[in-house]
Amino acid sequence: MIEKKESTISTEDAFLVGAVFGELSSDKVNEHLEELELLAKTAGANVVHSYTQKLNRINPSFFIGPGKAQLIIEHAKSLNVKLIIFDDELSPAQIKNFSNLSKSIKVIDRSSLILEIFSQHAKTKEAKTQVELAQLEYLLPRLTRAWTHLERQMGGIGTRAGAGETQIEVDRRLVRTRISNLKKELDKIDKERETQRKKRLENYKVALTGYTNAGKSTLMKSLSGSNVFIQNQLFATLDTTIRSVKIDKSHTILLSDTVGFIRKLPHNLVASFRSTLKEVIESNLILIVLDSSSESIEDHFQTIINVLDDIGAKKQTRIVLNKIDLIKSKARFDFLKNLFPDGIFVSALDQLRIDSLKESIAKTMDKDHVEIELQLPYD
Ligand code: GDP
Ligand code: MG
Repeated sequence: MIEKKESTISTEDAFLVGAVFGELSSDKVNEHLEELELLAKTAGANVVHSYTQKLNRINPSFFIGPGKAQLIIEHAKSLNVKLIIFDDELSPAQIKNFSNLSKSIKVIDRSSLILEIFSQHAKTKEAKTQVELAQLEYLLPRLTRAWTHLERQMGGIGTRAGAGETQIEVDRRLVRTRISNLKKELDKIDKERETQRKKRLENYKVALTGYTNAGKSTLMKSLSGSNVFIQNQLFATLDTTIRSVKIDKSHTILLSDTVGFIRKLPHNLVASFRSTLKEVIESNLILIVLDSSSESIEDHFQTIINVLDDIGAKKQTRIVLNKIDLIKSKARFDFLKNLFPDGIFVSALDQLRIDSLKESIAKTMDKDHVEIELQLPYD
């Protein structure tokens, strides 16, 4: 196994870089940077400065202009900042150019930051395996000569270069082998899960989905009365929690709470979490939990729809507008009502209108039970 790399991000000062280009307004980019800052904090970094840069076109070597790149690096050096995080995905070539330019300063993008947070939060074997797979798939096209220490890390059998094989080829081979082993392991875990899932097949399954930090786990707790891990942090939950919840006298559901979504979620991460997300795919009803106090609620909603599409979850959905305790103006309420006419307004934290949510779930369940009238002859 690859030795766990030293955490990429520790308590170090960081710069953020966002680019204004194409359809993006600078307001939007600032919103994205605020979220990136929260991600950086979650990973343990301390953001000291954010850059936004207008771009007419993306520079193939540095994403931003080479002059600006140089300037940011100089500024970082003068403040002893060791980490620069781009909101946009950097190509393997761009990462390499930055590492040549900046030497001791690490330059990463949002994807690798999210991967880092996932790896910090993975607790179960399944989550750990999924994260390692996503990390290696992210790493593979980015392997450069600088990575030759992989040989030592992976040690032992099969790590020596064969005839005519360069070090970089050896590294790629090792990573590919590890990827294929991880996939086999995940298949095995998934098969074990399958039996449990089959056992639950006769139950009506409801899945909580939503942007990270929307309040899914809090809602799970207030619906089920059970202890669920809640934290004002992005991606506090990576694994799926399932609870049986009695909605009323005649309705019981299996409620699941799982990993949150976020914009620009790395594709290989979504792919490797497919088995965790199966709970969502196979549910009868998906509750989309939104933070109604967030200015980015429309973007959040769109991100969730995109990810659900991505994983092939085509079930019926209900929209839950959470955190209504934070709505202070009637204008805001009207705005939300207009945007989501069928939305169910609740506060998971203050236990407000949880009953109306339960009623709505029960109604949907009844609708799913098709009533048929049969006339049977006596014989
Ligand atoms: P998750 O990432 O979607 O599972 O979100 P959590 O349930 O962990 O909650 C994220 C943060 O939002 C926590 O600090 C919660 O206390 C807070 N939160 C959740 N629901 C509400 C709510 O209805 N009102 C308010 N004010 N805060 C809430
Ligand atoms: Mg959670």
